[in-house]
Amino acid sequence: MIIDAHLHLRDDVYVGEEGRPENLIKMMDDVGVDKAVLLRLYVPARRAIEELEEARNKYPERFIPFAYALPDFREHTLDLIEKAIKNENFKGIKMHAGICRLEDYLVDPVLELASEMGVPSLIDCAGDYDNMERIARKFPNLKVIIAHLGLYLCRDGELMDRFITLAKNYPNLFLDISGVLLLEKIEKAIEEVGVKRIIWGTDGPSRSPDPVSFALREMEKVTHLRLTTKEKEMILGENIAHLLGIKNAS
Ligand SMILES: [Zn+2]
Repeated sequence: MIIDAHLHLRDDVYVGEEGRPENLIKMMDDVGVDKAVLLRLYVPARRAIEELEEARNKYPERFIPFAYALPDFREHTLDLIEKAIKNENFKGIKMHAGICRLEDYLVDPVLELASEMGVPSLIDCAGDYDNMERIARKFPNLKVIIAHLGLYLCRDGELMDRFITLAKNYPNLFLDISGVLLLEKIEKAIEEVGVKRIIWGTDGPSRSPDPVSFALREMEKVTHLRLTTKEKEMILGENIAHLLGIKNAS
């Protein structure tokens, strides 16, 4: 089973039409992706959750929604997230430091909730090593997926090494390899952290060059690695399935 662990639902700023549920499904079919962790950013938590719910209800076997935690002055975001996980079977929480910083007073209540409810958090920390370290240490029972090996399209090999070492030291950390440019860092992460905690995602859809070619190229980053078929399957789906308690993972 192939699972894209990082796919964006309609995102008016960057994606547009390509991010509509039906277009995502078509792209997944063309690429050979069975399921996708579905994310929605840039809108308040309530709207994100509602849109994700709608997409998931349309394609319940394909989309795995993560609740989006963005503080909102108008209502209590924690309640919305809790409800999404409890009643709507959302499987995790997404946070993005490019949109909202990872200061403790903002994110820790959300992470406490995730930890209590036993769901993982996918965090795009935008290179904020210190807060990731703090979070890893403070929430040992929380499974945290670090997006993009620490920083989207990072060219700073030393910074990536720090995130790899962090994941090596904290068994509750997992590394998402979407949006990684320095491919040797993926190999290094596998070596240091182990195949089990490496997770594939596309961070799609992307129009350049087109959604299908983009996703296939992301997949080739894994299929081209010098690993056994079993190990590739782990990275391309089994690891995240295991993390989310998704059955019928081969
Ligand atoms: Zn993303």
